[in-house]
Amino acid sequence: MISMPRILSCSVTECAYNVNNECHTLAITVGDGSHASCDTYYRTKVKGGAVDQIGGVGACKADACKFNKAFECSAPGINVAAHSGHADCKTFTQR
Ligand code: SF4
Ligand code: SF4
Repeated sequence: MISMPRILSCSVTECAYNVNNECHTLAITVGDGSHASCDTYYRTKVKGGAVDQIGGVGACKADACKFNKAFECSAPGINVAAHSGHADCKTFTQR
């Protein structure tokens, strides 16, 4: 059984869900095709999310990653960082 991997850190501080390099939405979706972007990234000046929760990976479409099992993430946790104006899963590892 796969349990939901935690987002260990996210350095995309301009995202609405980012507080102190932590992700505070309940779950993100990763992957636009094979690119491991955080699809939940939302750039705005207002902060949102659940302040008492650390987010997890709800689903991932980046099936080129070795941690991807049937479009779910099986990594123990992931790290997210900025890349070319969006946010990427840095735990992505090519199969
Ligand atoms: S970019 Fe993604 S992982 Fe980072 S805080 Fe925003 S929603 Fe969470
Ligand atoms: S580690 Fe791989 S499977 Fe998990 S969220 Fe990142 S890209 Fe998707």
